[in-house]
Amino acid sequence: MIIILKQNADQAAVKDLCRELEGRGLSIHESQGAETHILGLVGDTKSIAESWLRASPVVEDVRRVSEPYKKANRKFHPEDTVVNVSGVKVGGGHFAVIAGPCSVESESQIGTVAASVQAAGAKLLRGGAFKPRTSPYSFQGMRAEGLELLRHARAKTGMPIVTEIMNNEHLPLFADVDLIQIGARNMQNFELLKAVGRSGRPVLLKRGLSATLEELVMSAEYIMAEGNDQVILCERGIRTFETSMRNTLDISAVPMLKKMTHLPVVIDPSHAAGIAWMVQPLAAAAVAAGADGLMVEVHNDPAHALCDGAQSLTPAQFSALMDKLRPLVSLMGKTLD
Ligand code: PEP
Ligand code: MN
Repeated sequence: MIIILKQNADQAAVKDLCRELEGRGLSIHESQGAETHILGLVGDTKSIAESWLRASPVVEDVRRVSEPYKKANRKFHPEDTVVNVSGVKVGGGHFAVIAGPCSVESESQIGTVAASVQAAGAKLLRGGAFKPRTSPYSFQGMRAEGLELLRHARAKTGMPIVTEIMNNEHLPLFADVDLIQIGARNMQNFELLKAVGRSGRPVLLKRGLSATLEELVMSAEYIMAEGNDQVILCERGIRTFETSMRNTLDISAVPMLKKMTHLPVVIDPSHAAGIAWMVQPLAAAAVAAGADGLMVEVHNDPAHALCDGAQSLTPAQFSALMDKLRPLVSLMGKTLD
């Protein structure tokens, strides 16, 4: 249920109303925009009569929210949420590019890629340390050592780092990670979602291989229910009957998610395509569809990458991609800052 307050409503009366609602066991999610002041009620609102609320002198309107997601719902928070990743803004007109290798492989590899993607205009550095691989015999990542190499690259470049967590027991290792990634395979690992919610750190939540958009938003709700609203949603391609690409990029997820929620939405064209030459057209489509950012895999030597080489761009290809995207981003009224 949401309560739209009257403009210039008496603040003391609003506080009294909030106290009364909290006394009835509801928690209140307040959203104060430029023009609207909304109280989102979370909990069992069945016993709350709309007529009782409408009788309050501070209430303009009351609406029941039928969707199961509340805190992530745009009805609760009409304005775009801007996620702040250690000073880099994502959403609300700020377009952010995350780039880097699929996995951290060595100090020189992550250092070279970090410097080149930064020079090309990426603002956040990605690199997997704990890798979710389909085969247990594939490279599993450098784990804690990989995190340490990412920290070195951050110290050298000043770029905030983005890396995937696979297990809540690893959370202490991620205490200084600027943006914690929840991968597609863990989108519905609810204990992990609660743990990163409690961590209070910004989270990049990737859509599961065959998750519906509502399931994705419900996973964001798990993080937000712990009091963490710093969540970025990521569409990275889904499983369909099509086999020409690694996955099928669901571009319609962008406008739909932005209608459903107030959270920023980024696209990962690399995992969607699985093929390097297709990254550029998919990235351009993402910008045109209204995405708030991109996550792109870049490797200094894709042919010898330990993971996802086929979809990785070289630093030169990434730089050319950024040059192509710049005018499109500004055409969409966003800034690449
Ligand atoms: C990744 O970003 O390297 C990754 C494993 O992505 P996803 O979870 O989308 O497969
Ligand atoms: Mn990858």
